Amino acid sequence: DTSAKIIDGKSVAKKIRDEITAEISRMKDAIGVVPGLAVILVGDRKDSATYVRNKKKACVSVGINSYEVRLPEDSSDQEVLEYISGFNDDPAVHGILVQLPLPSNSVKYAMTSSRIKLWKDLNPNPIGIMKTTVLIVSVFLCQHMNEQNILNAVCIEKDVDGFHPLNIGRLAMRGRDPLFVPCTPKGCIELLHRYGVDIKGKKAVVIGRSNIVGMPAALLLQREDATISIVHSRTKNPEEITRQADIIISAVGKPNMVRGNWIKPGAVVIDVGINPVEDAKSARGYRLVGDVCYEEACKIASAITPVPGGVGPMTIAMLLSNTLSSAKRLHNFK
Ligand code: NDP
Repeated sequence: DTSAKIIDGKSVAKKIRDEITAEISRMKDAIGVVPGLAVILVGDRKDSATYVRNKKKACVSVGINSYEVRLPEDSSDQEVLEYISGFNDDPAVHGILVQLPLPSNSVKYAMTSSRIKLWKDLNPNPIGIMKTTVLIVSVFLCQHMNEQNILNAVCIEKDVDGFHPLNIGRLAMRGRDPLFVPCTPKGCIELLHRYGVDIKGKKAVVIGRSNIVGMPAALLLQREDATISIVHSRTKNPEEITRQADIIISAVGKPNMVRGNWIKPGAVVIDVGINPVEDAKSARGYRLVGDVCYEEACKIASAITPVPGGVGPMTIAMLLSNTLSSAKRLHNFK
């Protein structure tokens, strides 16, 4: 018995991309401007490389120029900042995106482990101990600082990811408007709108409070006049709280965490999670599932996003949309 309506992110995203394609060609014909998106990828994480490749392909498909910079794992903040500054000044670039996570933590972590190993194997000397201590402290402090410095450097007019603290701050404030809203949560709200889900006055629960998904999703729902609860790893009775929601957005990263009995009958469920689980039947040896136990949720929710094919395609569509609106704004094109 699958009663829930399937919220088809893939087809909504396709429709949005068609709208963007048409709008880009209208702008090109009128003022000769083609939107440009610069993507900076540091290090060689496979998943990040895949995301960057997909974003590039999506740009090409709608007529956005894409500029890509790949930097080695051990690049300094300074090198990344120089590229950002170049793109900030480049009139052909309307959006700048730094693919997260930045690698410094893992590199430093590897260095620290090898140091601690050395420390155990050799007689410790005072300088070695000092260097190791500095490294350990920097593992906990620096990645955060790095990411902060780098995200702060993107000029807010080109911050198409919406991660600049000024854009997030404006999102949180009444009477202010961010120039850009982070793509994944924006995609979630867009799905609710396009499926005619009433948000105003509804009780919404966001599971997860990350800077890139959970927190901005909660802020956006609040701007839409929902009443919000945020569930996170320290929440007591998450299922009880979640069960009160008319709208659930889950962004945790734990397969099948949200069971059928967490969901109020008739609730709308947006599942942001993308989790690989072993699957011998699949050629890759794994398949992707969300945070929500889909089979159970289908029987109780009124509508639900599948994984894959729900929020994922919307994230990229929103990135293209943010890049287009940036180009329009920077060239004062209505
Ligand atoms: P993070 O790991 O940054 O955040 C996870 C959040 O979940 C944290 O706030 C954490 O709480 C919370 N959490 C962890 N365990 C529990 C628990 N047992 N109960 C309740 N809350 C818990 O992840 P992201 O926000 O970056 O991503 C979340 C998921 O969304 C991932 O699967 C990711 O792959 C996917 N994703 C999908 C995108 C898409 O386009 N569809 C885009 C981005 C992400 P605390 O703060 O207390 O640690």
